[in-house]
Amino acid sequence: MSEVVAVRGLTRAFTQGQRTIHVLRGVDLDIAPGEIVALLGPSGSGKSTLLQAVGLLEGGFDGSIRIAGEEASRLDDEGRTRLRRDALGFVYQFHHLLPDFTAEENVVLPQLIRGAEPGAASGRARILLTALGLAERLDHRPAQLSGGEQQRVAVARALANRPALVLADEPTGNLDEATSDRVLAAFLDLVRGEGAAALVATHNERLARRMDRVVRLHDGQLAEL
Ligand code: ADP
Ligand code: MG
Repeated sequence: MSEVVAVRGLTRAFTQGQRTIHVLRGVDLDIAPGEIVALLGPSGSGKSTLLQAVGLLEGGFDGSIRIAGEEASRLDDEGRTRLRRDALGFVYQFHHLLPDFTAEENVVLPQLIRGAEPGAASGRARILLTALGLAERLDHRPAQLSGGEQQRVAVARALANRPALVLADEPTGNLDEATSDRVLAAFLDLVRGEGAAALVATHNERLARRMDRVVRLHDGQLAEL
């Protein structure tokens, strides 16, 4: 039981009118502590669907998802919320930062929600943002940051509560190639430094090769590359 995530036989179908699309058809996936896994697959292959299931954000699937040893299907809403808050961090394609708060405050808030002491939360926010090259941007609001800087703040926020697993859905998908490379490198360095595991959806094979392991979604199943 040492995996951070163990997925078995995960299936998910969407029905619209008369048509049923079988997006996931029996996905198995294990991620070890500290392991960074790239999830490849073309647009529409089900990457986001898989991340939402593992992130306990969506029900409606069959199969087993164990996170940090806990079987998700046996938890009620409250239990899933707790597990999500305690074990998981999220980075999306769009940063979803709170516009009226500074970079530092955006990283402090999730820690306060989890009961951290304000001084400690602020200290941790500064350490993370400094590690991501944002020491001079702590007091900037999202609108005062570039796209790459906004994504770095989102990365710091995802790691704020020391998650065992970071789920990232095309985290650099909105950025130009050079910025995307730099943000991804900073993301990988920080995740490695923190000892977190990560599952990172991308359709960029070049970026995927920088991770520890690559899996590809094809016809609703995962293949190791
Ligand atoms: P990816 O992230 O790899 O681009 P998605 O997981 O977003 O793929 O989508 C996979 C397939 O599932 C697509 O065909 C999409 O249209 C379908 N799909 C995703 N979410 C829904 C939904 N809520 N209702 C109906 N179909 C959906
Ligand atoms: Mg997607």
